[in-house]
Amino acid sequence: MLGLSQIRNIDRIVRRLDDLSKISLTERGVTRLSFTKESEEANRLVSHWMEEAGMIVRRDALNNVVGRYEGTQEEAPVLLIGSHLDTVVEAGKYDGILGVILGIEAVQILHENGICPKHPIEVIGFCDEEGTRFHTTLLGSRAIAGNFLQKDLEAVDKDGVTLAKAMREIGMDPTLYRLAARDPNSILGYLELHIEQGPVLEKKNQSCSAVSGIAGQSRLEFRVEGAAGHAGTVPVAMRQDALVGTAEMIQAVERIALQYESLVATVGKLKVYPGASNVIPGLVEGAMDLRSIDDTTREVALKRIQEECQQIANRRKLTCEFQLVFESPAVHCSSHFIGIIESVLEEHHMDPLRLVSGAGHDAMAIAKIVDTGMIFVRCKEGLSHHPDEFASQEDIEVGLSVLLNTILKIIA
Ligand SMILES: [Zn+2]
Repeated sequence: MLGLSQIRNIDRIVRRLDDLSKISLTERGVTRLSFTKESEEANRLVSHWMEEAGMIVRRDALNNVVGRYEGTQEEAPVLLIGSHLDTVVEAGKYDGILGVILGIEAVQILHENGICPKHPIEVIGFCDEEGTRFHTTLLGSRAIAGNFLQKDLEAVDKDGVTLAKAMREIGMDPTLYRLAARDPNSILGYLELHIEQGPVLEKKNQSCSAVSGIAGQSRLEFRVEGAAGHAGTVPVAMRQDALVGTAEMIQAVERIALQYESLVATVGKLKVYPGASNVIPGLVEGAMDLRSIDDTTREVALKRIQEECQQIANRRKLTCEFQLVFESPAVHCSSHFIGIIESVLEEHHMDPLRLVSGAGHDAMAIAKIVDTGMIFVRCKEGLSHHPDEFASQEDIEVGLSVLLNTILKIIA
C-alpha cells in the first residue's frame, strides 16, 4: 500500500480546487454550465494539469476531456477514472470536480514515482453531468457509453439555443457525437470518487466509503381536487379542502417510506389554488420523488402510496390523480470493485462501509457498459449544490489514498 506520507501533496490539490472554482459565471458559488466560455476555460486548465501529470490529452466528440497514462502492456484494456466538470447554478467547488482532480493527482503520483502499471489509465472530466443548461442528464458519460441520442442535440437552454448550436459555437461538429462512444472490450472498468452529498459519513465519523449503487427513482406529479369555498361561511365539517387532504396524504407518504429501510420519499413541491387566505383550497398540484436501491421496494411502496392516497381522497370526497413523469432503475456497482474498495478502507483502518447513492452520477451511465466502482468522501453536514459545500483537507487526503490504492489493486 502507498502510505499517506508518500503521496501527500495536498497543497497542489487545494490550489487546483481553488483555481477551478474561480472559473465561474457567478460571483457567488461556482456556476459552470456546459459548452460555455467557462467550460472551455476549465477544460484548458484541466488539460494542462493532465499534461503535467504525464498524460496525453484529447477532447472527445462531446467535449469530454480525456487524459491517458500509458501502461506497460500494449493493447491491455484501460481503467477509466472520472467525474464531471460542470456544476449547478451557484454550486460548491467539490461536487464532480474533486473526482477529476484526485484522478489526475493519483496519476501524477504514479508518474512522479516512476510507477508504470500494466494497464493504461485514462482520467476523464465529463462535460455535462448536472444537465443545468439543457435540462438533460449525463450527456458526456452517456456519449462515452454509446447511449447519447440524436434527439439530445435538440435540447434547448433558457435562451432557446440548442445543444447542437452551442457545440458549433465552440467550434465542435455535433454530428460527430457517435465518435465519443467507447468499445466496452477496450475498458477494464470505471472508478469515480465523489463527495457523499449526504450526512451518513459524518454521522459514522469516517472519511470515506464504498458505494453499493445508485438508487432507482420514480418522479410523479399529482393533482388533488376538492371544492373551493368561502373561508368564513362553510363549516369545517362540510368542506372538501384539497390542501387538508393533501396534508394527510403527505403524512401517509412519510409513514410508508419509514417502513422500508432502503426507501426515501419526498413531496417537495405544492401549488395551492386559488391560493388566497380567505378561500378554502379547491385544488392542489404537487410533485413526489421516490428513490431506492431496490427497484421492487420502490415499485411496491409507490403502489401502496397511491392506494392509500386514493383511500384518503375517497373518505374526504376529493379526487386524486398521479402521473409518472420520470423513472430510472437502480444501478449496481461491481461487487468485485466494491470488495477491493472495502479492503482498501480496512487497510486505512476504516469500516468497510458501503453506502447507496441517492444522487445520480456519471457512474450510472458508464455502469451500463463496464464494471464500475465508486468512492464517497465525507462532506460537511452532507451539504452539496451550495456555495458552502465543504470537504476537509484530511478527508481529501484519505480519499486520494483510497482511490490510488484501489487503482493499484485493480491494475497491478
Ligand atoms: Zn456530482
